[in-house]
Amino acid sequence: MTEAITFKFKFLNSEGHEDSFLAKKGALSPEGLVLGDESLPIEALGKASLHSKKYILLALNSSDEAVSIGLAVTKGRAADLVRAMNALSSARLAKHYREAVQESGEGGVFRFARCPYCRATINLSELPHSDQTACGYCDRLFSPENKAVAAEADFCLCEHCGYYGRVQARTMFYFYFLLVIWGFQSDELTACSVCAQKKNGWMVLANLLFIIGLPNALYQWGRCLRAIEFDRSAFGGLEKANQLAEKGKVDEAVVYYDRLTRHLGLAGGVHYNKGRALLLHQRAEEAVPALEQALSECSNYFPSLQLLLDAYEQCGRHEQLAGLKKRYGLDVAPPAEQA
Ligand SMILES: [Zn+2]
Ligand SMILES: [Zn+2]
Repeated sequence: MTEAITFKFKFLNSEGHEDSFLAKKGALSPEGLVLGDESLPIEALGKASLHSKKYILLALNSSDEAVSIGLAVTKGRAADLVRAMNALSSARLAKHYREAVQESGEGGVFRFARCPYCRATINLSELPHSDQTACGYCDRLFSPENKAVAAEADFCLCEHCGYYGRVQARTMFYFYFLLVIWGFQSDELTACSVCAQKKNGWMVLANLLFIIGLPNALYQWGRCLRAIEFDRSAFGGLEKANQLAEKGKVDEAVVYYDRLTRHLGLAGGVHYNKGRALLLHQRAEEAVPALEQALSECSNYFPSLQLLLDAYEQCGRHEQLAGLKKRYGLDVAPPAEQA
């Protein structure tokens, strides 16, 4: 990126509402981010995330507590802006890391990856090697080009159910008629097909009374059903398995997960789902191999790491727990002081 991206925006207040009537001018360039009268160097930018197509939540790097700002983009493409912010800030972070290690004279091997979906730079320098990589910016997993399957870009962790699924932004539409007042309300839900179908079931009921909203509600519900039951992509059956796991039918879900991992070359997300389903249903011993496999295929997929730590703990596997913490540089309790 060499030219500045210009846009118009309004700041969001602590309640998430736009705090001014008039929009301000903004610009992003390799030098930094200009927001009205304020300028921030690239070093100050943390992770940016997009919400409901036009809202950006931007974390700021601060030595004190976590600080973030909210922006409503009124002119310009917020999605492009988020991608550009993350690409610039992650590249700068990687550069600083390399310089700091070189200056310390400790040497070391630098290993960075570029996310093919959002162009963020991911630092893998201190992590075990694996074929798949997780992007902490767009939350997708990616495989080396020769091993990637076409639908990989559509899948990531669903923030509603915690499973790896086909997460998309979907419009929810409600029509209402209250004696003399009528209107409609639409909202956006970013979720996997299973969560969206659940929500859409309610949407169908809510719109049932007022026929106008019903076709849209039924259409959305049918889309989710098709995605869950008739997915023809290489990940076909994954969301069906997630739905079964959510309903507590873990053995049936495991059959789907195993079928998928057999034919997908790399499937860190699918192993993670299997481990999660088993762990949530008090089957920690069975969850362990699935989560170990998830981490060995994608070593920086931290949701798998967290679950594997929990699983080791629940199984009383203290040596493996300590080994895993050490491998990932996590705090290990200091040995008890000798009397
Ligand atoms: Zn990414
Ligand atoms: Zn979900």
